[in-house]
Amino acid sequence: MTSIATTHGYPRQGRRRELKRAIERYWKGGVDAAGLLETAATLRRQRLERLRDAGLGEVPVGDFSLYDHVLDTAWMVGAIPPRHAEAVPDTTTDAGRLDRYFAMARGDDRVQPLEMTKWFDTNYHYLVPELSAGTEFSLDPTKIIDELAEAAELGVAARPVLVGPVTFLLLAKAADDPDFAPISLLDKLIPVYVELLGRLAEAGAEWVQLDEPVLVTDLEPADLARFREAYATLAAVPNRPKIIVGSYFDRLGDAAPVLASTPVEGLAVDLVGPGAASLDDLAGQPGLAGKRLIAGVVDGRNVWRTDLAAALGKLGTLLGLVDRLDVSSSSSLLHVPIDVTDEPDLDPTVAGWLAFADQKLEELAILARALNEGRDAVAGELTVNATRLASRATSPIVRDQAVRERLATVADDQLRRRSAYPVRAQAQHDQLKLPAFPTTTIGSFPQTTTLRQARADLRARKIDNAAYDRAMRDEIAEVIKLQTELGVDVLVHGEPERNDMVQYFADQLVGFLSTRNGWVQSYGTRCVRPPIIVGDVSRPRPMTVDWASYAQSLTDRPVKGMLTGPVTMLAWSFVRDDQPLGDTARQVALALRDEVTDLENAGIRVIQVDEPALRETLPLRRADRPAYLDWAVAAFQLTTAGVADATQIHTHMCYAEFGDIVDAIVAMDADVISLEAARSRMEVVGELSDAGYPREVGPGVWDIHSPRVPPVEEMIEALRLAGQTLPAERLWANPDCGLKTRGYAEVEQSLRHLVAAAKQVRTEL
Ligand code: GLN
Ligand code: ZN
Repeated sequence: MTSIATTHGYPRQGRRRELKRAIERYWKGGVDAAGLLETAATLRRQRLERLRDAGLGEVPVGDFSLYDHVLDTAWMVGAIPPRHAEAVPDTTTDAGRLDRYFAMARGDDRVQPLEMTKWFDTNYHYLVPELSAGTEFSLDPTKIIDELAEAAELGVAARPVLVGPVTFLLLAKAADDPDFAPISLLDKLIPVYVELLGRLAEAGAEWVQLDEPVLVTDLEPADLARFREAYATLAAVPNRPKIIVGSYFDRLGDAAPVLASTPVEGLAVDLVGPGAASLDDLAGQPGLAGKRLIAGVVDGRNVWRTDLAAALGKLGTLLGLVDRLDVSSSSSLLHVPIDVTDEPDLDPTVAGWLAFADQKLEELAILARALNEGRDAVAGELTVNATRLASRATSPIVRDQAVRERLATVADDQLRRRSAYPVRAQAQHDQLKLPAFPTTTIGSFPQTTTLRQARADLRARKIDNAAYDRAMRDEIAEVIKLQTELGVDVLVHGEPERNDMVQYFADQLVGFLSTRNGWVQSYGTRCVRPPIIVGDVSRPRPMTVDWASYAQSLTDRPVKGMLTGPVTMLAWSFVRDDQPLGDTARQVALALRDEVTDLENAGIRVIQVDEPALRETLPLRRADRPAYLDWAVAAFQLTTAGVADATQIHTHMCYAEFGDIVDAIVAMDADVISLEAARSRMEVVGELSDAGYPREVGPGVWDIHSPRVPPVEEMIEALRLAGQTLPAERLWANPDCGLKTRGYAEVEQSLRHLVAAAKQVRTEL
């Protein structure tokens, strides 16, 4: 049996984000439905050709999407929430279908969209299907059938890759009744997949891949049993394509025996990172012998060249265990940029260490050839690969002796504040002299078009650094003036100089790289360019001190220094794969620790270190979480613990459910934590109080995700509610998150209300 190279998916947006542009033009009315669909078809054809020309023996279809593949699955099985069906009743035309699809994706003035959340532990967001006991499924296979036909037209062997029924239901949420479990709809959903298999067979599909990434999470035994039963039913369908169950992002664990004994013809498994352990999980499973295995040995979600010799070693182990062995990326390539050769600013040596989607395709083709023709057939490629890896391993860009020596001397007491919280609280109280329910904001003020224009002009060299600095300072002065007039207690400079809370720091730290075209889809048409952590991290010079001290010079009230924490810096970047994440986090923490010291020395008395990503990078498997939380907490402590007792450390997180990370949050030992609470009616305050949270809390009393200005009464209510569970002297009054996406009109009004609400509750003490 020959081995082929394949993948689970390829970036959708196009090399110059053509899809994004076309969709956004469509939303603005600049192009009609036919025009948009035409652009999408062209891009699909180009990517099929690219995958074929790269030497893939089977290309994925169905992975393309105008917005999101989970939304596409909801559409395919007819899981249209009633409100979207009512808002857009007519779907007999392309325009009608797109209208309803985008209404589900992003809402409009008639109707709220589906909720959006992170796809496992990646930075891709999917739309959460909404289901209820009354949901009736029905099949619309148009998209996948059309895409199969497009591949056939090009003469490319294609494998539909679709979200499987168990994952679809486990990722869905209950539309109304909170006690309803969408997975209870499995018996109703399976017939739709049965029908789908029939339609795919008719359309000529030899194989179909149903992705069940929930298999790498800690599933209840009942859900594993449901999985087994569902796939037994699908496998029993006569005249169907052969089925591959796909999984990725972590190890199979308990799911391995279930999967191996399920009567499907193939598995696709992630064998890199934590997924590498699946090799052991699968070895020795008797059911495996007759199956096709698509081995994910090329990392689908990070940007480094694969160690091809090591990958061949893994493949060698698998050869004897299965009926047919193919090579693939570990997951869809949607999580990486398209092409390293499209990065003119990168040092060519460093570029040689990197593999974006197209370079990964090359690697896959080399591995398949080695399997089929022997290593000698690719000896030249293996040598080039080994040279690249060796150059990376020994490069001074990667290893900075000074950073390593300094890290080695970090002592435990550097992770602890000088005094216990009660002593610090007193010192802070004496220094800051804040009223009860102090008012503050989370950091950013609206990013106006003027600010964006100034940044664009600087990049285009239309203005010089001095002019840019002046524009930022003017903005800071305005923001300070506004807060002073409104009577806010702890001020911020407004972050006008930051395009992005990670990139801003990445651009200034040694060890981080930026790309020019390295776009990755975050959600829908929104793409981000994550920095790449390439080497040991250090801070050549202060990053925020000038802005913060300028702001502080304009007022007697305390101005908060504002930093992005080490975990978030890692979470929103491509990370090194050549050392433990915890080591990289400690390097970033040391750099930030110096920034904290410099801010303190410049007279900044309150310093906030944002960690909105702390919870989202939590490992998928519960067993891996304590180790993660250990290094994550230690990195925060290393960043912040060097300050004097009287310097107040804040942290901020953008979510409201703490659950099992509450102990870690206590251990971070920030003096004040601000977090999202408005939408969940202050529930998080109860959670923190149940955990005996011993320090101060700023539960957001205003939801900044909407332009709505909350009335004073509502904020007063929220503060009173919080005061029922935590002592009033430990509460702050602030919004949910930063204000950068809002407009000044709402912000000014809402802040006025915030100050008024705080004044009112103070009188009730
Ligand atoms: N300080 C940041 C801001 O206000 C925090 C953003 C965030 O939490 N995501 O914009
Ligand atoms: Zn936030």
